[in-house]
Amino acid sequence: MTQTKHLPVAIIGSGPAGYSAAIYTARANLKPSLFLGHQPGGQLTITTDVENYPGFADVIQGPWLMEQFQSQAKNVGANLISDFIEFVDFSVRPFILRTDMGDTYTADAVIISTGAQARWLGIESETKFQGFGVSGCATCDGFFFKNQHVAVIGGGDTAVEEAIYLTNFASKVTLIHRRDSLRAEKVMQDRLLAHPKIEVLWNHTLEEVLGTDQPKSVTGLKAKNVKTGDITELDTTGVFIAIGHDPATKIFKSQLDMDNDGYIICAPGTANTNIPGVFAAGDVQDKTYRQAIVAAGFGCMAALDAERYLAVLNAHAPGGK
Ligand code: NDP
Repeated sequence: MTQTKHLPVAIIGSGPAGYSAAIYTARANLKPSLFLGHQPGGQLTITTDVENYPGFADVIQGPWLMEQFQSQAKNVGANLISDFIEFVDFSVRPFILRTDMGDTYTADAVIISTGAQARWLGIESETKFQGFGVSGCATCDGFFFKNQHVAVIGGGDTAVEEAIYLTNFASKVTLIHRRDSLRAEKVMQDRLLAHPKIEVLWNHTLEEVLGTDQPKSVTGLKAKNVKTGDITELDTTGVFIAIGHDPATKIFKSQLDMDNDGYIICAPGTANTNIPGVFAAGDVQDKTYRQAIVAAGFGCMAALDAERYLAVLNAHAPGGK
């Protein structure tokens, strides 16, 4: 059924940033509506153990944490909509949003928290062991690999940073890169190449992640030499895929200021985009930290910035609101 409905605050995306923005705007009585998208809960729903989200003394599960976020948002009055925003028009006021079910909404303020997706290689064994030894985030999962041999795939800043970070726990880190030179910053390259715990396997790609089903865990990997086709087997128990992230910003292109990688640019220290009334929070505008707790903090900032914006807007509305 199609409908046009006006929303005081529309929040797009349901990761930690979106739910935090929903909780804060709901408690400010701004009646937010949050569009859940295709993967409600975001990246944490494909994680297993979470040990670094403050407030929980014991290990929790990513999907459980996101259910709690959702229930909290609902309990404080946020309206949750199971739909995906496929089109926005920020050139008119109120702003226009259209869903892929064909519904149209208008909104006075929009908070974008559509997140980013880690890029994956797309091989079957990688998918099979995701969350069971294959990870897209060393900061999140490195701690689980104390005194073990792990591999990092990629040659950019993320891969190099993750490889160095993993030396805090792992006994050995093998960086596997498809070329014979890295694209990471020179100073980071120097640090990596000088590190006694790190070895680089140049000109190799990940061919297969090896593991067991009971318990589901990684026992090694096969890497293929791109020049000779030779296969090298490593006994790594962790495989970190670090080949980049894609911010979910396609529908905002040419409407909002973005950097070369497609991340939304906010004014420093705020969630304000270049369009007043449109705010961005979480991984969609943060390529440095990419942590749930940081995204949640950004969600709070976006809510407070939206609250201030709406207070001014409503004060200037004919007759006030
Ligand atoms: P990048 O796109 O910079 O690097 C991706 C790496 O993965 C490249 O080395 C690429 O290889 C490799 N790769 C891509 N696809 C495949 C594939 N299918 N198989 C094998 N290897 C593959 O992504 P990053 O996440 O590293 O960085 C993104 C941006 O964020 C950059 O601008 C970076 O500078 C920035 N950043 C900054 C940080 C900081 O300042 N502290 C930290 C992290 C990121 P190839 O080189 O051959 O293309």
